[in-house]
Amino acid sequence: MVARQDLATDPALLEALLTARRGTAFFGRKLNELSDEDLSGPSLLPGWTRAHVIAHVGYNARAIARLMEWANTGVETPMYASARARNEEIEYGATLPPAALRHLVEHSAIHLNVEWRDTPPHAWARRVKTAQGRTVPATETVWMRTREVWVHAVDLANGASFADIPAPVLERLLKDIAAAWHARGSDKDLVLKISGAPALTELGDLDAPDPEIVSGSLAEITAWAAGRHTRGLTSSRHGEPGPAPRWL
Ligand code: ZN
Repeated sequence: MVARQDLATDPALLEALLTARRGTAFFGRKLNELSDEDLSGPSLLPGWTRAHVIAHVGYNARAIARLMEWANTGVETPMYASARARNEEIEYGATLPPAALRHLVEHSAIHLNVEWRDTPPHAWARRVKTAQGRTVPATETVWMRTREVWVHAVDLANGASFADIPAPVLERLLKDIAAAWHARGSDKDLVLKISGAPALTELGDLDAPDPEIVSGSLAEITAWAAGRHTRGLTSSRHGEPGPAPRWL
């Protein structure tokens, strides 16, 4: 039997869907490399075990599927009832037995994929609301999921690094982070100089007369900007840069 195809026709959207699916596969691969006992070990995120990360990634797929249902039916279905409900769900999920956690990740990803696959071209432009309250077209859900699966695969702390993330994903992520800093004014006097990136060389407070310049590869700068780790970077002021401004 031939696999059912996406109803979407826009080449950029199909490419974005492919990157999201590759990220899902990558997360699944790193998860499969972990034993059941490993799941209670620490993740890269403070206060979260790997089980928290896994539960979050599963529930995130369900939440994004709700946005696609919203786009398809016009019936408003938010990602989460509230920020508190979201956090309680993750805390609960982290207590699930390993088999249930693995099942959650797998089945929520399949469900989301079916929602994406069966969304007709016109519905992708419909507006939905993110957990942060931003109104975005349904196409944005693909990016929202893409960055979750790629970055949280690194957070599983079993060998994945930002260097495993495709460069276009890193570039977009870094631009998102820089925009969030800018909106908060926390990029003042900070310039990022990125080496080896296909389309990005500089970001930040480019008009500052004497900024701190943080330089490094796309993967290492993005890892630092996302608050994950500081490795392989140099600062024009301190040798190694201090912690990056808060992102989320
Ligand atoms: Zn997340």
